[in-house]
Amino acid sequence: MSARVLVSDDLSAEAVEILTKAGLEVDVKVGLKPEELEAVIGQYDALAVRSATKVSARVLEKATRLKVVGRAGVGVDNVDLDAATHRGIVVMNTPGGSSTTVAELALALVLSLSRHVAAATASVKAGKWDKKRFQGHELSGKTLGVVGIGNIGSVLVDRARALKMRTIAYDPFISADAAQKLGVELVALDTLWRDSDVVSLHVPLTEQTRNLVNAPVLSKMKKGAILVNCARGGIVDEKALAEALASGHLGGAAMDVFEKEPPQADHPLFKFENFACTPHIGASTEEAQSAVAIAIAEQLAAYLRFGVVKNAVNALGLPSEVMEQLAPYLPLVEKLGSLAAQVAPAAPTEVTIEVAGELSAHPSRPLANRALVGLLRHFMETPVNEVNAPAIARDRGLSVKEVRTAEPLDYASLVTVRVTGPGGEAQVAGTVYGKREARIVRLGGFRLEAVPDGQVILCENDDAPGVVGNLGTALGTAGVNIARISLSRLEDRSRAFAFLNVDSAPSAEVLDRLRRLPYVRSVKAIAL
Ligand code: NAD
Repeated sequence: MSARVLVSDDLSAEAVEILTKAGLEVDVKVGLKPEELEAVIGQYDALAVRSATKVSARVLEKATRLKVVGRAGVGVDNVDLDAATHRGIVVMNTPGGSSTTVAELALALVLSLSRHVAAATASVKAGKWDKKRFQGHELSGKTLGVVGIGNIGSVLVDRARALKMRTIAYDPFISADAAQKLGVELVALDTLWRDSDVVSLHVPLTEQTRNLVNAPVLSKMKKGAILVNCARGGIVDEKALAEALASGHLGGAAMDVFEKEPPQADHPLFKFENFACTPHIGASTEEAQSAVAIAIAEQLAAYLRFGVVKNAVNALGLPSEVMEQLAPYLPLVEKLGSLAAQVAPAAPTEVTIEVAGELSAHPSRPLANRALVGLLRHFMETPVNEVNAPAIARDRGLSVKEVRTAEPLDYASLVTVRVTGPGGEAQVAGTVYGKREARIVRLGGFRLEAVPDGQVILCENDDAPGVVGNLGTALGTAGVNIARISLSRLEDRSRAFAFLNVDSAPSAEVLDRLRRLPYVRSVKAIAL
């Protein structure tokens, strides 16, 4: 009996043909109500969706035959990943399928703003012929600053080069080599704000990128510069942007995405003639919709016929005997990866996962993969898990090394994650006491005993009296409660370090206040 595929969102005739030609039995049933889907899902081995079908835990409970869900597109918010993983169902998406399309929209918005296309259209249609008011700028010879050169950002760089623009980029997670191949110059973020005539954002929405473009950043941008956001709402502080347009500091701005979608009719940005916007249509072209439909059909066919897993976004279980031994360490190792990502120098090229002590008797691959998940999750739009993390690392030119050593240590087992690149090295290590008490025991040269959880402030200072008291007072005054604190000093007492678990994320102002305290050298807020 051939495998059966249910296509429950509008894919395309071509995609259905790919599935049929692969010898699969395909039913297209678009617009099923949740209860209708629940009633039929038990008959299928594969389900192909876009974003409309909700693949809930209830649906998956009834999916007794289902082996794979294919999402034509990137976001998998409409699929209950945990429930799918629990049932051993692979969930795949199609990252990159709409990159050209989104990059082209960003470029369209840049061109439109530099020549006032939208405003001039409205003016001509209103019966005016105002040639002077709409004098614009050429892009040729201007500098485009791209924040995030993943799938979309790199296509935009390529297209901008064809327009004879100088391209610079900031992406903490791309090697200088990879950037050079793209023909883009990697620069520090502050340099990008300062030097760019046009800034285009192509990063995921993460802890680090939320409100990335705020009032201080906007004031650093060149007078007359253009800002485009076709990435995610929330990366740009919309109120601050409205102020930057009102003051005339920015030459124009465009957004395809808003903090709240759809935005309210009296949104403060709408009154500006030099603000252009589109209703989150970055990926909406016939070509992109067709490309992702074809991609998912090919992936489903390859999986059902040959068991080839491509672009899986959920993690499948490890063998139970390995799982039992490694289980207590997996959450710790993910936190170590996450910590390393947040303290690592830009453009890492190598990650080493070293497993020492008793744990080294077991395979280290699951630990290495989990460390990569923690590390890569900070940089990627597509959900990262143990299944896709190694491939993502490989695609980004990041080499991954696993080292196992049985040498005795101060701990029963110790896992060290080392991230290196031209900018330097970050090294973090952790252990688990008993079966559940995870601790970070090393960060750079400092020995600690810190709980890897929640909001954390990392403070490096001169080893002098009063620093901890001052930190406590400053945080207390700001209403930030310290839950735990782990202190450390270098043996030669040249420097000391505090790892503070706090109950709420400190604001940028509070962090600045901490940085100005006597003897404090650096302060960083991270989330674990
Ligand atoms: P991607 O994961 O391929 O690339 C993202 C890049 O951002 C990576 O190279 C990563 O290293 C980099 N990055 C992560 N954190 C960063 C930071 N703090 N500073 C600078 N760079 C950072 O993702 P993609 O497919 O290119 O998508 C980019 C964005 O576009 C995402 O936000 C995605 O949701 C959005 N998107 C929007 C539409 C739309 O309809 N407008 C469609 C598709 C994708």
